[in-house]
Amino acid sequence: MDFKEYIRVIPDFPQPGISFKDITTLLMNGEAYRKAIEELKTMVGDLKIDVIAGPEARGFVVGAPLAYALGVGFTPIRKSGKLPYETIEADYDLEYGKDKLAMHVDAVKEGQNVLIADDLLATGGTISTSVNLIRKLGGNVVGAAFLIELEDLKGRDKMPGVDVFTLMKYD
Ligand code: 5GP
Repeated sequence: MDFKEYIRVIPDFPQPGISFKDITTLLMNGEAYRKAIEELKTMVGDLKIDVIAGPEARGFVVGAPLAYALGVGFTPIRKSGKLPYETIEADYDLEYGKDKLAMHVDAVKEGQNVLIADDLLATGGTISTSVNLIRKLGGNVVGAAFLIELEDLKGRDKMPGVDVFTLMKYD
């Protein structure tokens, strides 16, 4: 399946110069959504995974169904102030902005194998911050899976040692 057919590219969103890859058009198509998750499941099939961690909000719509398909747990990585229990936090830079990410202190147990999932890898800021949070909790990051990779931004270079799996690549 050519998954790119289901991605809507919006020029100059959310600000001039950004070519936004809208995944809602893929999610709206039941067959494309299911096949995208199945394909990611195949790509990460050789990894031993205990839990999938996904950053809000689009990491949930990739990470949670992938966790369900693999029969493993899912844990959310959220913006500061959203999680109800005790958290650890880290600052991060976005392709267009700044923020803080948080995880519950017991979201990942010492020695657990964690796969990170998100919709899109751009500069790698979100994911490398997620990697840091998971490692701080004692987790072992076994890989990172995305629907889309913006190759020119070289996000995967920010995560040496982490295997990166992507369904679609854009310049
Ligand atoms: P990074 O931290 O790698 O620079 O940016 C990736 C994060 O920003 C992801 O969580 C992703 O949801 C969001 N993001 C950045 N650009 C886009 C885009 O063009 N399309 C979508 N769907 N998300 C984007």
